[in-house]
Amino acid sequence: MITKVVKPTPDQIRLAGSLIADGQLVAFPTETVYGLGANARDAEAVGRIFEAKGRPGDNPLIVHISCEAEIPPLVVAIPPHAKELMARFWPGPMTLIFPKSDAIPDAVSAGLDTVGIRMPGNDIARALIEASGCPIAAPSANRSGRPSPTSAQHVLEDMNGRIPMILDGGACEVGLESTVIDARGDVPVILRPGGITPEMVKEAVGAVRLDEHIMAPVSEGERVRSPGMKYRHYAPKARTVIFEGTPERVVRTICERYDAELAAGGLPAILGFENHDYGDRQVLSLGIPEHPDEAANRLFAALRELDTEGRTLALCEALPLSGIGLAVMNRMGRAAAFDIVHL
Ligand code: AMP
Ligand code: MG
Repeated sequence: MITKVVKPTPDQIRLAGSLIADGQLVAFPTETVYGLGANARDAEAVGRIFEAKGRPGDNPLIVHISCEAEIPPLVVAIPPHAKELMARFWPGPMTLIFPKSDAIPDAVSAGLDTVGIRMPGNDIARALIEASGCPIAAPSANRSGRPSPTSAQHVLEDMNGRIPMILDGGACEVGLESTVIDARGDVPVILRPGGITPEMVKEAVGAVRLDEHIMAPVSEGERVRSPGMKYRHYAPKARTVIFEGTPERVVRTICERYDAELAAGGLPAILGFENHDYGDRQVLSLGIPEHPDEAANRLFAALRELDTEGRTLALCEALPLSGIGLAVMNRMGRAAAFDIVHL
């Protein structure tokens, strides 16, 4: 199969919409990461997503909609807190969990009795959903286990020859996947952190809880509420270690470990802040500490670069666990199998 990368003109969006309606796959930009979309009502089309990604069948997909009127047929109820959060944060980088109706095939929900739904903030994404005339099930458009794609080029690296079309909408704004929230109970629970932060949710509905697995590894056989948490996502081939502490100690320790790796014949890299002094060592920039949104935006591209360059060791600076820093640390933590050194 030839994979076409096209600019999202109205004509191409119409064509992409008809491919989806026809049961094919199309990769498209969203404000979080690039998605790999299929008609969410078509179990066979959804099966193609799992095949193209090499995704385990027990990892559910998020269903993307272009307006709230599309929700009622897909769910059996809209929880009160979900209504408040939708009004506040949609369209935007937030997925809500609903009790699902029979319109959602088991392949989408991976056998769960719930479905995650999101209205993306990206105009191209919503135009594609409208053009297809159906809700679009879409996980990130990477091969399973690779960092999520934040550019059309990343999608092409992973999906060339596997899908007919990639809509190239440029770089993703947020750069990390959506915040997943289960708002069915009295207090909304964040299952996966993202661009909509715990602070924002608390401000909107008065309370918020974090799932216990956000900053912890999941042990073999353990049940989790957000199945994606189980998998060692985002993992570069390089051994990845995170350093947390005062900037002076972190920089000194990273430099020592870097020099030792080099002396041992390895090829180290640093994922660090550009205002910290690493001399002439190789740094993949996370921006500056005052702007954790830059780290969010750059993290996945940096993790991909480690593999492209054949790095053997990645030494990463930690971010504070507040705001979007929590989402960055959740993804970085999982890339590092939560190997975090406290200095
Ligand atoms: P991806 O779109 O590749 O980021 O993957 C979607 C992720 O959203 C999954 O790995 C789950 O962690 C989460 N998710 C999707 N649907 C549900 C659901 N019904 N319940 C809990 N988590 C979900
Ligand atoms: Mg993914």
